[in-house]
Amino acid sequence: MCATLSRPTIGSCKMRIRNYGRLEIPRELWRELARAMKLDGILPGALHDELGIYGTCKTLRVTVRPPIPRKPSACPQSYTFGHISIYPCPACTLGFLTSCYLDGLMSAWLHQYHEDLYEQSICGYWDDRPLFTFFTERAYSILGGTINKPPVCGNHRLSVRKARRNVPAFREFAQTLLSCKRVNVPTWHRKAGRRWRKPNQRMQR
Ligand SMILES: [Zn+2]
Repeated sequence: MCATLSRPTIGSCKMRIRNYGRLEIPRELWRELARAMKLDGILPGALHDELGIYGTCKTLRVTVRPPIPRKPSACPQSYTFGHISIYPCPACTLGFLTSCYLDGLMSAWLHQYHEDLYEQSICGYWDDRPLFTFFTERAYSILGGTINKPPVCGNHRLSVRKARRNVPAFREFAQTLLSCKRVNVPTWHRKAGRRWRKPNQRMQR
């Protein structure tokens, strides 16, 4: 989907998803999640890209790499300058890849809208994992994702149809992050946790 009218148009304004994995990626769901995080159009960081780091693509780029056997990883994804890369193993499920993508969205959002906080987080100046973990786990749960025991990549289950029905709930959840004051971003999960305790209890997890 094209950027909104209020956003400038530079080259292609469509988010790019490349998939070299064995699973079919729910592209429309992933785009809807990016849209809810205000990451679906021209990225703010790309507007002032005087060094050309973003190249000709000014939108979020997502690449799912070919699966390779590896030891279990908490979240095999990386983010750099508008590009989320996901590194699945042969056992990874669509639910797990979506969970990794959510983690990447959090990185992208921090980088694009709070670059100083993003740099502090990757430099370890503040303990960012509760923030990332809270966002990813809660968002995955809101979408209807489940994790069987043991909680490894192959035991994540997500119905794409159900997840798309739950996008409005995800959007509302994401808004609690997007609208919170910058100074509260590192501790956002504490307040959001209280707010979302009740809805989460109703979810089938
Ligand atoms: Zn895996």
